[in-house]
Amino acid sequence: ATSQSHEHLSLAEEWIAANYHPLPVVISHAEGAWVTDVDGHRYLDALAGYSALNFGHLHPALVGAAHEQLDRLTLTSRAFHSDQLGPFCRDLAALAGKELVLPMNTGAEAVETAIKTARKWGYEVKGVPDGAARIIVMSGNFHGRTTTIISFSEDPDAHDHYGPYTPGFDIVPYGDLEALEAAMTDETVAVLLEPIQGEGGVVLPPAGYLRAVRALTRERNVLMLADEIQSGLGRTGTTFACDLEDVVPDVYILGKALGGGIVPVSAVVADRSVLGVFTPGSHGSTFGGNPLGAAVGRAVVGLLRTGEYQERAAHLGKLLDEGLRGLVGRGVDAVRVRGLWAGVDITPSVMTGREACERMMELGVLMKDTHGSTVRLAPPLVIGEDEVHLLVDSFAKILP
Ligand code: PLP
Repeated sequence: ATSQSHEHLSLAEEWIAANYHPLPVVISHAEGAWVTDVDGHRYLDALAGYSALNFGHLHPALVGAAHEQLDRLTLTSRAFHSDQLGPFCRDLAALAGKELVLPMNTGAEAVETAIKTARKWGYEVKGVPDGAARIIVMSGNFHGRTTTIISFSEDPDAHDHYGPYTPGFDIVPYGDLEALEAAMTDETVAVLLEPIQGEGGVVLPPAGYLRAVRALTRERNVLMLADEIQSGLGRTGTTFACDLEDVVPDVYILGKALGGGIVPVSAVVADRSVLGVFTPGSHGSTFGGNPLGAAVGRAVVGLLRTGEYQERAAHLGKLLDEGLRGLVGRGVDAVRVRGLWAGVDITPSVMTGREACERMMELGVLMKDTHGSTVRLAPPLVIGEDEVHLLVDSFAKILP
């Protein structure tokens, strides 16, 4: 870190609550897959805002939509209609093949909304006695930071000292169908899962698992809630990670890239038989569905409708997979790749994930560790083959 950076790093130290441990890089500009720091150094962004920047920084179609909307109307609240929300929800529902959209802002809010949806559906449609609903969740899950969501987190950093916790959740091992079946009772209203666990380290369930969960939940009249906040919207080479197994969940939970990396936009997307449980006053958000977010979200859906980004992710993902696989046994224990999304387990005796990120930063690549010696790569889907090679070559350089 040089002069300008130093000043910002000390401001951060002095004034920002320490709930994150960022790499010591101070970014001031970005375009596409590249960011520039306050001292003029350029870095390849291989995190893409935890997949919130799937379309890269400052994508012209998204920035254009935002600028246009910024000059017309930014907020109405849901007390009134806007000319942006209907078209956005129509287009998003069509992309997901569902009937209704409930717009929110952040990922955690969308997960909370899905939990409320499942409970209300359980009481009013399935006929579970009031207050008895249970939701099955997965070990190693990450669904956000609110008090209810961290109640069923197994990560001590996320969970500890925030009690008393919200009851009503049962944790089963991720990928274990028998355990899931054994945990189901008449009071189970939903199974909530990430089709691929992002924060967990890009953890893939066994082949056929999602399909089996779909069949089981259908058979037992239980909702399947797919948290596609990090896995969805092109990242895996398909529109949704569930598409990799031709699975259609009852509920898609979306966020991150839905706001184009410009504004927070999240949504719960499902059919009327599920989202129809909401009546005026039963749920809401001042900013949820705001015209600026809706305009950007609609532009995001427009980019995904062509399939171009999904194809890029699939094609470049193959290159990334090949490249990273070549590192296994040379300081890397395992790699897991789907589309342009990779979890890399570095041999723990070689270095921690944090050290790997620091070394990569020195080579001009920004990425983020998840746990221990696992790092996650999630570059924007606008990168090219050269940038995939740069990523893999840089990774090779930091290994012994
Ligand atoms: N769900 C998943 C799968 C996520 O990866 C995240 C964020 O990393 C969230 C939910 C929470 O989203 P947010 O940070 O926008 O609340």
